[in-house]
Amino acid sequence: MNASRYAAATDVGLVRENNEDCCYVSDGLWVVADGMGGHAGGEIASRVAVDTAVAHLDQPDGVDGRERLTDAVAAAHQAVCAAAREHDLGGMGTTLVLAVREPGGAVLVGNVGDSRAYLLTDGTLRRLTTDDNQAEELLANGEITAEQARVHPGQYLLTAALGGWSATPPVPSVYTVPAGPGRLLLCSDGLNSELTDGEIAEGLMGGDPTEAARRLVEHAVRAGGRDNVTVVVVDF
Ligand code: MN
Repeated sequence: MNASRYAAATDVGLVRENNEDCCYVSDGLWVVADGMGGHAGGEIASRVAVDTAVAHLDQPDGVDGRERLTDAVAAAHQAVCAAAREHDLGGMGTTLVLAVREPGGAVLVGNVGDSRAYLLTDGTLRRLTTDDNQAEELLANGEITAEQARVHPGQYLLTAALGGWSATPPVPSVYTVPAGPGRLLLCSDGLNSELTDGEIAEGLMGGDPTEAARRLVEHAVRAGGRDNVTVVVVDF
């Protein structure tokens, strides 16, 4: 099946004044970015990254899928750096998680930072992406448990992001999701910092993507809403 149904939902949450998350959905390309940086920096960073990645990926160029994702992330990184110089907002940066449908129906997922992709198949939720943060590094090295990683302060220290600090573009981790049926979730950390994987699975299941997206955002806000929360839900 080549068609997909999809929806996005976002909320500023209960604490933050601005929504620095940004997302994009279309038939075949889905993106979530979570910006950071003082003043308007985070909003600009996530918007510029999403727009640039989308413009890049909307142009068919015959390049292999994985390489296209890497190129799109590099282009987005350069654009965020250029915008930072233009607005004199040196520290601004953003995460980026994106999913692209391949011609055969498989979906490629790429990420930099701590925005996540999850896959729901046959009632089972699986996290596809690894967070680029210190807690996840400690977990990978066996220094802390998954339980400890969930509440570890290192979860707020990103080890990779677009813009800001590095002249070298970050290279996204890329994952291939076989052709569906399945339900894909992209989210900013405002979702998974408020809800456990079990709660995310529960919110993601049932109804169409619009209902699921609204329900997840609502649950995260009700659970505390300490951060902006953005979700994209795709049936493929
Ligand atoms: Mn966030």
